[in-house]
Amino acid sequence: ALTIGIVGLPNVGKSTLFNALTKNDVLAANYPFATIEPNIGVVNLPDPRLQVLAGIFGSERILPATVSFVDIAGIVRGASEGEGLGNQFLANIREADAIAQVVRGFVDDDVVHVEGTVDPKGDMETINAELMLADLQTIEKALPRFEKEVKQKKTDPSVLDAANAAKDALERGQLLSTAGIDLSPIKELGLLTAKPYIYVFNVDESVLTDEERKAELQALVAPAQAVFLDAKIESELIGLDPEDAQELLEATGQTESGLDQLARIGFATLGLQTYLTAGPKESRAWTIPQGAKAPQAAGVIHTDFEKGFIKAEVISFDDLVATGSVAEARAKGKARLEGKDYVMQDGDVVEFRFNV
Ligand code: GDP
Repeated sequence: ALTIGIVGLPNVGKSTLFNALTKNDVLAANYPFATIEPNIGVVNLPDPRLQVLAGIFGSERILPATVSFVDIAGIVRGASEGEGLGNQFLANIREADAIAQVVRGFVDDDVVHVEGTVDPKGDMETINAELMLADLQTIEKALPRFEKEVKQKKTDPSVLDAANAAKDALERGQLLSTAGIDLSPIKELGLLTAKPYIYVFNVDESVLTDEERKAELQALVAPAQAVFLDAKIESELIGLDPEDAQELLEATGQTESGLDQLARIGFATLGLQTYLTAGPKESRAWTIPQGAKAPQAAGVIHTDFEKGFIKAEVISFDDLVATGSVAEARAKGKARLEGKDYVMQDGDVVEFRFNV
């Protein structure tokens, strides 16, 4: 499964946020028999369309798509040189598909700041510098091997070119994700700053509705996306029933919880989209990469569906709602039979035809 690694300085609210991530009932609902590692948190991708589908089909249950988060130990200045937990954290981040960096924006004299003062910009620079140093070390370690292998014609020269370009960018202080280098030849290195980033600002409640301050913080991280939340409120929200949670959200001027935002933005950052299936048993969202074709989408349900793919019957969610049922959608010519080259669209409601 695709996962997002949570990083940040100590005492910025990572554990508080992560507890909210693990305390929700997603795990119990979607993975009843699986043993989930304690450092994995799963959030539902909010999708109001599922409720509507469940109404049309009389589905017994709803299964939204999910996004997984891995809690990675805090990073301190000098981590790449072995300070604090040192390089131990690196292996965990390397496995993640994207990085969510939690940044402290809240002011609380009772909570010690490791760098002495609340300074979101400085904190991000500290973390990013550590990640860049870690990448530099990785590249410097690999370069002699690449040079040798290219000389022996065992490896394509593009590998060496990419490694050198990445090294230059890092030495200029640039995150690889924004350096515009084709890193595909050196994908195996699992470079940390090449991963997609999300910034999670853990702010005081008052900032949640302070558009000016939020714009300032967003500007610090553009073009990356930012999520603004109050980790303390998130941990309260998770314990409330839906009506009370809605009331607390409204009282704090929010339309969506921070965890929902994080799921939505995380999902997009990972380059994912969903398609939908529905029937009397369940209405369900399935996760596919953006641009996936019909057989690949079928394969997410079962590998046999991909191998034996014949056609996909596709009705767009909006057409299904407008017509009210599959039979009506078919009668009105809104059900399309799509072949193996069909590129899946967001909101497609699908039934696959396949050979077994
Ligand atoms: P971590 O080291 O990044 O995992 O940080 P923790 O989640 O353990 O939080 C450190 C301290 O800050 C704890 O005492 C939390 O209760 C507190 N804390 C976390 N988030 C907030 C917040 O949004 N506002 C305030 N005032 N305190 C917070």
